[in-house]
Amino acid sequence: MRSPSAFTGDYPEIREAVAQLCADFPGDYWRALDQERAYPTEFVQALTEAGYLSVLIPEQYGGAGLPLGAACAILEEIQRAGCNGGACHAQMYTMGTLLRHGSEQQKQRYLPAIASGELRLQAFGVTEPGSGTDTTRIRTRAERDGDHYVINGSKVWISRTEHSDLMVLLVRTAPRDAGAKPSDGMSVLLVDLREAVGQGLTIKPIRTMMNHATTELFFDDLRVPAENLVGEEGRGFRYILDGMNAERILIAAECIGDARYFVDRASSYAGDREVFGRPIGENQGVQFPIARAHVQTEAAAAIVQEAARRFDAGDDCGAQANMSKLLASEAAWAAGDTCIQTYGGFGFAEEYDIERKFRETRLYQVAPISTNLILSYVATHELGLPRSY
Ligand SMILES: Cc1cc2nc3c(=O)[nH]c(=O)nc-3n(C[C@H](O)[C@H](O)[C@H](O)COP(=O)(O)OP(=O)(O)OC[C@H]3O[C@@H](n4cnc5c(N)ncnc54)[C@H](O)[C@@H]3O)c2cc1C
Repeated sequence: MRSPSAFTGDYPEIREAVAQLCADFPGDYWRALDQERAYPTEFVQALTEAGYLSVLIPEQYGGAGLPLGAACAILEEIQRAGCNGGACHAQMYTMGTLLRHGSEQQKQRYLPAIASGELRLQAFGVTEPGSGTDTTRIRTRAERDGDHYVINGSKVWISRTEHSDLMVLLVRTAPRDAGAKPSDGMSVLLVDLREAVGQGLTIKPIRTMMNHATTELFFDDLRVPAENLVGEEGRGFRYILDGMNAERILIAAECIGDARYFVDRASSYAGDREVFGRPIGENQGVQFPIARAHVQTEAAAAIVQEAARRFDAGDDCGAQANMSKLLASEAAWAAGDTCIQTYGGFGFAEEYDIERKFRETRLYQVAPISTNLILSYVATHELGLPRSY
């Protein structure tokens, strides 16, 4: 099913080892979970034990200290193998907020345990029902009361909270109009979910079109120790923004994996399936869309690689991170559409996994940032056009 050049990207040894691990989690494993909307516990455990989810944690804190490009290779191969890294990709990068802005004491306390897999930090609470993409309008607030913060409010679409020990949470600690800018007055708290649930935090699962373990959160006087504040009070929005480039590049890499999965599957099927006495892939009406999907995928992959290279070199990569997420998510969707068309009726049958992957990859044109907001970023930051908001 794989092309001969399958492992010739960056980090070929890592890619091959990830593909081997993923071979133990074939389509029927994912189909059964999809039916129940159940969490892939065994898969996440296998990735954790192999050390793949801690590659970005520096060696001094027990991780592998690898560049973002290596993490991209891991996530891409997971998706290319037909698995779903959405269940655990945030374990790789959510710790970045702590790593960049946490105190040394916080890092020593949490990062080694996250690296070993003893603690899961894969929940990231920003989005709220009332604010949408306009993060400065979040209303969940934390008020200082002695040596605690008391949190009230709600969040929506917060993924993996039921499968995480810790959560990075963005809250308002001062009103929107109290600071010089609307983005002032927000803070990041590290919430220990093991202590919080039932003590002021209620988690309500949201059933979605794909298996994604996402939830709504309700805070009712949840008390969080003040020592769990990450960085300075009031500067949380900047800390969250800092982590977004890495997240976008990693998710773009997942989309490249999805796109290559669809191109692999479509090519293979078109070569095998005989109709009118010959393989359907002999018809240019079948082979050209697959070739186009491949071209689109490889173009997007080149920008993802460039974005990761710039990130790892410490260069400004905001434009590349955004553009790579847009192009890769669209390449994956187009390749999925072509794959379904190539499979004909069988593309709709659950047992072929195409429809499942098609549902799963659709998310990435909306989350973690929607296509329009990326276009707005490019228009205003890259092209100097006036802001619309
Ligand atoms: C399955 C899933 C998992 C998620 N996981 C998490 C998570 O773990 N943590 C978390 O914090 N969030 C999470 N999210 C939230 C996700 O980041 C948001 O859904 C996404 O950023 C879009 O925000 P919104 O849904 O509020 O859309 P809105 O902001 O309401 O926007 C709706 C539509 O309008 C468009 N739009 C809005 N404003 C403009 C404008 N000015 N110009 C042009 N178009 C505009 C948008 O592009 C979008 O298409 C998740 C979402 C989903 C669906």
